[in-house]
Amino acid sequence: MSQSVRTRPAGCGQALSEAYDTALLDLDGVVYAGGNAIGHAVESLAVARAGGMHLAYVTNNALRTPDVVAAHLTALGIPTVADDVITSAQAVARLISEQVPEGSRVLVIGGEGLRVALRERGLEPVESADDDPVAVVQGYGGPEMAWGRFAEACYAIARGLPWFASNTDLTIPGARGIGPGNGAAVEVVRIATGAEPQVAGKPLPPMHRETVLRTGAERPLVVGDRLDTDIEGAFNGEVDSLLVLTGVTDGAQLLAAPPRHRPTYVDADLRGMLTGQPEVADDGDGFRCGGWRAAARGERLELDGEGAALDGLRALCAAAWTAAGDGSCRLDSGKALARLGL
Ligand SMILES: [Mg+2]
Repeated sequence: MSQSVRTRPAGCGQALSEAYDTALLDLDGVVYAGGNAIGHAVESLAVARAGGMHLAYVTNNALRTPDVVAAHLTALGIPTVADDVITSAQAVARLISEQVPEGSRVLVIGGEGLRVALRERGLEPVESADDDPVAVVQGYGGPEMAWGRFAEACYAIARGLPWFASNTDLTIPGARGIGPGNGAAVEVVRIATGAEPQVAGKPLPPMHRETVLRTGAERPLVVGDRLDTDIEGAFNGEVDSLLVLTGVTDGAQLLAAPPRHRPTYVDADLRGMLTGQPEVADDGDGFRCGGWRAAARGERLELDGEGAALDGLRALCAAAWTAAGDGSCRLDSGKALARLGL
């Protein structure tokens, strides 16, 4: 994929699971939500894998180890080994290992996933700023993380140690709502110290590099539900992406996406991996996909026709992204999206 500005979703004449060798799948909002499998995920992944596609799972959550994530997926009916799970803890551990001597001590503000990932790179996790660490790493520590851990990070950073963060997702979804994620915890330390961390997780290049190094993917397809992590990560890595609508992104957000947040393909759920993708055609008076035609008129996006809702959304994407160029579309899409039930 070139980095020229994308102005419409791409077509694909064969199933995406055949056109790409490896799926780099986000987890929350794509494969599962609140611990339970998302509709059609288990069957779709089984078909893609049986057809020869390598499936890898890429998560910004640094708390859980790959073993724990693989066991969770396997329990949901998606047979997975730990080697097929890539976490931001692994990406940040590699980033640290490239900047400090082998065997160095690293102060851990976070959970077991970080400790395991540091040991894997020959680094020694320690718990106190007084344990002679040479770096500080911060990752999501779960709801039980004590406030004193942030103080520990501040003490070490004030002594001049480099500070690393697994990821900066501001929020984390839970069974009772949206809670503060590692990005919010990083802000606590940033405000207290005035320092800036080096960050590894999606959408930044260290995470994408880690996934490609670990999977050996030659033609990867990033599959995700978030524009500012999954899709932007694919954009930064210059690889193709599939947005699914089973997570946090809705139609209006997709239409307003600036270039770095525009996916290559859009589909409802993971069944989209098993099919080709329709072309969106410019007929001079609008954009056609399936039975729909979308166009920018005045202050609005207008939609005519009938057919599959996803085709209408693809046509609207083309109208919105073309109108926005390298910015964000501000046209009113409410009526058009309501017609599609999106
Ligand atoms: Mg997600």
